[in-house]
Order: sequence, then structure tokens, then C-alpha cells
Amino acid sequence: MRIAALRETAIGERRVALDPEVVARLIKDGREVAIESGAGLAASFPDASYERAGAEILTRDEILATCDVLAVVRCPDPATISALRSDQLVIGLLDPLNNLPVIQNLASKRVTAVAFELLPRTVSRAQSMDALSSQASAAGYRAAIVAAEAFGRYLPMMITASGTARPASVIVIGAGVAGLQAIATARRLGAVVTGYDVRADSREQVESLGAQFLTSSITAGAGEGGYARAMTPDEQAAQQAELAAALKNFDIIITTAKVPGRTPPLLVSADTLAALKPGSVCIDLAASDKGGNVAGSIDRERVVTPNGVIVVGAGELAADMPTSSSQMYARNILAMINDLVVDDAVAFDLADEVRSSVVLCHAGQVTSKVVRAALKLAPLEPATSPTDLNPAESHAAELTTEDGQAA
Ligand code: NAD
Repeated sequence: MRIAALRETAIGERRVALDPEVVARLIKDGREVAIESGAGLAASFPDASYERAGAEILTRDEILATCDVLAVVRCPDPATISALRSDQLVIGLLDPLNNLPVIQNLASKRVTAVAFELLPRTVSRAQSMDALSSQASAAGYRAAIVAAEAFGRYLPMMITASGTARPASVIVIGAGVAGLQAIATARRLGAVVTGYDVRADSREQVESLGAQFLTSSITAGAGEGGYARAMTPDEQAAQQAELAAALKNFDIIITTAKVPGRTPPLLVSADTLAALKPGSVCIDLAASDKGGNVAGSIDRERVVTPNGVIVVGAGELAADMPTSSSQMYARNILAMINDLVVDDAVAFDLADEVRSSVVLCHAGQVTSKVVRAALKLAPLEPATSPTDLNPAESHAAELTTEDGQAA
């Protein structure tokens, strides 16, 4: 079985899906590994470092033509998707719910696609595969560093011969994986830190890091799987009002609030931004082309408001720390391959909670429950896994929706 990493093509993406250390482990396990020439350069892994680990360096075309497993960070571009062959396995952060036509295309090409986003993260077996956590952790750490760099003052209290500087006050909105890492890092940099979230459990986690907790009027905001639920319009208005009153007392605001499959909630409104002190910094980790937590934030851009507030759109901050992020991500890929590939074949199993969740499509069918629901396709029964279906049945199942209508 030949496993490969491709050079990422998304703008600003500097991570790579396999690092030399994981390549060496794959080779020790008896796999062949190929790396697209230059794939690791932006993450400080030159081709020679992969060759030393035992990988072959190939062109993109050679990889697409000869490899069985393609490890990627982000969903490949259309040209790469169209070059994929039947029975190849693609593993990555494929963002399936925002790429439904791509997943349907992969299914029709009989490619097996695996997305980390749909991993059941609370299952203990899945923890070593949890790329969302490894990348959120890197992003949270980096958010505090970017904030410190953009802020024009000291973060810690400084007592010097020239006078005393008071410490910066930082609030982190959304105390999940990224938020807790941002809190811990800002504390290490000497700031006075506060956390805020709508999940009741988060208070204890924030306080255990030595930060204060800003209590929300929403006390039952937890949804399924440890995530937050979407707020109602009234709750959103109440949140914006309570945050508007509180945020003007902070120097740095780091936002990480997300709800799976939904547009991020707008928590820092334009009016709230206008009331902040000049020189205040907002780092929006939820920034995306669908909006973010901070009014007017633009992903990968730094804008300064008319009242001098610096707003940094930072939706893919893990990509700005490419070496560490790639090392962690590569270990998630290794764990996923070790779990999913048995005797050189994909061990697809609809009855297995982890495998059935992460596999989007296999043997010509969209298999993920979540993606099928988004496509309005009828759920698959465990007894009729794709390998049990003959091609005619498989095709028929694909064209029938939940309500029995043609899709
Ligand atoms: P996420 O990226 O979806 O969201 C980030 C944070 O934003 C969450 O804490 C969420 O509660 C918060 N949020 C959402 N809407 C908000 C709003 N309107 N106002 C304020 N905050 C809001 O979440 P995540 O960081 O990936 O993880 C969420 C939860 O899952 C956490 O409790 C985390 O500890 C848990 N988790 C558990 C495991 C595990 O058990 N191994 C692994 C990963 C995550």
C-alpha cells in the first residue's frame, strides 16, 4: 500500500499532511510513502528530510496515478479531484458540509473519502485521530501570540525604573479547545485573563487555568456532543447586549465561538467595536467567508476601525504555525490510517461508530449519515453496507430520498 502527501493548494495554507517523523513510522510499519516534491517546504520539511525518512519524492501526476492513500490537509482543488481514481482513499479536513457536490463527485468516482470533521471526538479510541483538536489547539496558542504582537502595550505588569505598566486585560469568548489554549497562553504571557462561554461546563475549565469567568445570561447553551447549540434570536440579542457592556473594559478580545455546521454567531457588533478603546485588539478565530464573531472581520486580513481598534481575521491560524501544526496533524493521519486500513483495504463498517462517522463515501455511495441527511438521502441500514449492494441497488439507493422522492 502506497501512502502519499500532496502539496496543499489553498491560499495561505502552509501545512503538509505528513511530516518526516510519521513517514518513518509508516515505513517501519511496512507501507510505501511518496511525497509530492516541495509539499513540505512551507512547513520547513524539505524534500531531503522526507528522503532521509525513506519516502520517494514524486511529481503530483505520479502521485495521483500510483498512490492508494492520499493524505491532505484541506479539500483538494477541482483539478486534483478530477484526477482521482476509483478505490483511492483520501483523508483530510474535507469540510464535507460545505463541499457537498465534491463529496457526491468523489462517491460517483468510487473514491473513499474520510473527513476529520465528522469524528465522534468524545469516543476514547478517536482521541489520537482528533485533528480538529490538534489544529484548534495550535490556533488558540497562536491567537494569543498574534494578539500580543498586534497590541501596542506590554501584556504583563512591568515594574521598571521608568515607571510601572499595568497588565493587559484579555477576554476569550468561546472556551472550547482553541479558547482554553488561548487563555493558557495569554496567562503565560502575563495578561489578566477572563473566559466566557454559554456551556455551563466551561466555567470550571476556565477557572482551572487561573482565569476569571464572565457569566453569561445563557446558562444552558450546551448542545449535542459537547458542542454549543445555536442561540435563538432573543438569546443572540441578549448576548450582544451583555458583551457590549462588558467588552469595553478589555484591551484584547479573542473570539473562537462556533456551532458545528452553522454560521458562527456574531458576538462583537459594530457598536461594541466602536465603544472599544483605541489600540484594542480583536482576534477572530471564527472568521470565514460566511462571517465571524466580530463585525467586519475578514479572514486573513488585519483591519483598523475608525476608532483605532485592530481587528484580525484569523480563521486558519494553525496554518500560520505550519511546522507544529503539521507534526500534530500527521500523527492524526497516522492514527486514522492505522484504524481504518486493515490488510491493505479500507475496513468500512456501518456498525462502527468511528468508521461510519468519518467515512463520507465508499464503494460508489455516500455513506455518512450526516452527509446523507444534508443531501436529503435516505439513511443506510447497517445490514446493507455498500459492499453488500450490487451496483444496480447501490445506484437505486443513491437516487431515493428520505421521503421516497427521486433525489
Ligand atoms: P467549537 O470550535 O465548536 O466552539 C468553540 C467554543 O465556542 C465552544 O466552547 C462553544 O461552546 C463556544 N460557543 C459557541 N457558540 C457560542 C456563543 N454563542 N457564545 C459563547 N460561546 C459560544 O468547539 P470545540 O472547541 O471544538 O469543542 C467543544 C467542546 O467539545 C468542548 O467542551 C471540548 O472540551 C469538547 N471536546 C471534547 C473532546 C473529548 O472528549 N476528547 C474532544 C474535543 C472537544
